[in-house]
Amino acid sequence: MTSATLTIDLGAIVRNWQALDAQTECETAAVVKASGYGLSAPHVSNALAAAGARHFFVATAQEGADLRAHLGFGPEIHVFSGHMAGDTEAIRTAHLIPHLNSVDQMLRHVEALPGAPFGIQLDSGMNRLGMEPGEWSAVRDIAVAQKPVLLMSHLACADDPDHPMNAQQLNTFRDMTDGIDIPRSLAATGGVLLGPDYHFDLTRPGIGLYGGLPFVDAEPVVTLDMPVIQIRDVAPGETVGYGNTWTARRPSRIATVSGGYADGLIRAIGPHTTLYAGETACPVVGRVSMDLITADVTEMRHDPEMLQLLGPHTSVDTLAEAAGTIGYEILTAMGGRYQRDYVE
Ligand SMILES: *Cc1c(COP(=O)(O)O)cnc(C)c1O
Repeated sequence: MTSATLTIDLGAIVRNWQALDAQTECETAAVVKASGYGLSAPHVSNALAAAGARHFFVATAQEGADLRAHLGFGPEIHVFSGHMAGDTEAIRTAHLIPHLNSVDQMLRHVEALPGAPFGIQLDSGMNRLGMEPGEWSAVRDIAVAQKPVLLMSHLACADDPDHPMNAQQLNTFRDMTDGIDIPRSLAATGGVLLGPDYHFDLTRPGIGLYGGLPFVDAEPVVTLDMPVIQIRDVAPGETVGYGNTWTARRPSRIATVSGGYADGLIRAIGPHTTLYAGETACPVVGRVSMDLITADVTEMRHDPEMLQLLGPHTSVDTLAEAAGTIGYEILTAMGGRYQRDYVE
């Protein structure tokens, strides 16, 4: 076998969802956009539906239609991008709930699918998606009369509990929605952790389900094991990889493993990342290339067959930090070449 194996612990995803659900008195949805943050929306959603999740959020109507085919009817599937031109058939046949982001989207929806369910996304300050306070006050009475199933907004800085933007957006959201008898949703993973003021009727965690920050108590979900293709001796003064960026200072054993930047292991991880064989650290040496990574296995007594990149020693966030990015990007970049094993 030449490809690396990504093991995805669906049981850990379910326990992370339950742990976030236990922090609130309200309903907990699951965000499974971008194919379940790269881990497969059908697998993740089926496991969560079996555990009791009833609301799933995706980014686009196409993602919603694909998910419906796997989930069957029953669970609600919500679409953040709302009702865009060309989405009507998918929304109708897959029974999706678009979260309408503008008056234009609202007109499109009620004209194309009168009586079909929808939610409304409000912009409480992030300036990304949703109706702004002025726009909302102009259409609010008409919109509410159509009985949206949910009024939602999204926090820009919830990963930082001390950020004043959190309270500011909470106030704006309350100003826009207080006194309306329709369920509300403001919190993603970060918002759940900000406490009950932010919970309203439904929370929408994504990254926390998949073991990522800011949910520090999350159970890890992914491990990545990379097969060793070849091991060689390198003499002091010899170099390894493109650009000769690493030079042996001692007689060294260098293992070449299968997996590289084409698999989402971006080049920036190189200088700060360590592979593991059990407890033995095997630092990455030289540049990460498209399909291959080289690591120093000199400390090992036996030649390893596999080296682990993600696992007990290295979390998704550790790897993200090494690359100067966030766990979300590491997860969603995980490539299509991996063998994927789903465990309960
Ligand atoms: C992605 C997203 C979420 C989930 O956010 P996490 O930080 O992954 O929990 C929730 N709501 C909206 C609008 C989103 O775009």
